[in-house]
Amino acid sequence: NVVTRFAPSPTGFLHLGGARTALFNWLFAKANGGKFLLRIEDTDRARSTQPAIDAILEGMRWLGLDWDGDAVFQFARSARHAEVAHQMVANGHAYRCYMTAEEITAQREAAQAAKQPLRIRSPWRDADPATAPADQPFVVRLRAPREGATTIADRVQGSVTVQNAELDDLILLRSDGTPTYMLAVVVDDHDMGVTHVIRGDDHLNNAFRQLPIYKANGWPEPIYAHIPLIHGSDGAKLSKRHGAVGIEAYRDEMGILPEALDNYLLRLGWGHGDAEIITREEAIQWFDLAAVGKAPSRFDLKKLENLNGHYIREADDAALARLVAGRIGDSADVALLTRAMPSLKPRAANLGELADGAAFLFRQRPLTLDDAAAALLDDKGRETLAAVHAALDAVHNWDTETLEGAVRQVAETRQQKLGQVAQPLRAALTGRKTSPGIYDVLVLLGRTESLGRIADQTT
Ligand code: GLU
Repeated sequence: NVVTRFAPSPTGFLHLGGARTALFNWLFAKANGGKFLLRIEDTDRARSTQPAIDAILEGMRWLGLDWDGDAVFQFARSARHAEVAHQMVANGHAYRCYMTAEEITAQREAAQAAKQPLRIRSPWRDADPATAPADQPFVVRLRAPREGATTIADRVQGSVTVQNAELDDLILLRSDGTPTYMLAVVVDDHDMGVTHVIRGDDHLNNAFRQLPIYKANGWPEPIYAHIPLIHGSDGAKLSKRHGAVGIEAYRDEMGILPEALDNYLLRLGWGHGDAEIITREEAIQWFDLAAVGKAPSRFDLKKLENLNGHYIREADDAALARLVAGRIGDSADVALLTRAMPSLKPRAANLGELADGAAFLFRQRPLTLDDAAAALLDDKGRETLAAVHAALDAVHNWDTETLEGAVRQVAETRQQKLGQVAQPLRAALTGRKTSPGIYDVLVLLGRTESLGRIADQTT
């Protein structure tokens, strides 16, 4: 039975790469009828923060990436990690290393002089434990294999081999008895029953250090899938410079819907033919690791906004209205916004644009016009507007059809193009040069408010 996990370190917020890793793990579990677990790797006590934990949990909920059971907190499991290390010492797979700082420095300097990477060779690996100095601090090191090679059949990277001679005896327990990250990850993944480790390819090297810990304990090895990182549109690793921010910024500042971000992240580095719009059900049905690309994917804000525009048009009007109301503030009227959504949705790529497009509904009379709208209301425009006011004042069936007839009639009578009538009208009703269709605007504002706004600009 498939068990996957997402194991973020709460030292920063949930960023795009992490969200995509979580999504792939979630989908792989769902696609295989398995479980998806969450583990907060909070062992770096100095850099782990509660706000980061909150942001990760909230971000995952927002993206709809629900996890099975309770989140596991790694630090709380330190005693278990230490127990495994001691067990490994007892059965010879690890040993106490009493190397001094001076001895380590000497090896580092020798490696530097020989232009070789540092591989600690501890004399304690083969020393008789009976010769151990009493009351001296020690670390616990893995007795890693030196002969042969380790090969990982990575589901994304393919077969990758490292000579065991290139690895050193990594530390499992520090001299203060605290477990290292390498040990904690393996013990937790084993105890949680994780069958597939799907994570960023910046962890591929770690897999070669983690596998011997499984082997030493006789635990079944997980299947690895190391997915490429996300790069900026310029090809460089995604960083702050590209606006690599927590995913809450995509929600709050960029007005992205979670469905759009999920769809976008899915397509980033994974494909199913040329399908761009992929529903969650389709994603669960189609997702597999074989179709995850090996090359880093490039973040493309335009594509994300295109998808977002699609999901905005698909979204339920009332749900969207509530989101937009939150952006507009107290003056917003959710019922009115809900009615306005069909005319606002087609032109918006994000929630900010929706809120912006809807703002005219809640402006106070008399409206302040922007420059482009004010320019439409020159003498000629105001004269036209006065004629429109008279015509609309006579309209009592305030529906788009009747209103359109009345406005067209004005244009005809005055021998003007429809736009020459509609544009000053739009300026007076919305204060802007662009808006949803003008008859929709009239209907949404209602008779009294519309006539009032027009009158405000004719006198
Ligand atoms: N905590 C690690 C990170 O945030 C992930 C470890 C793993 O997935 O094995 O990068």
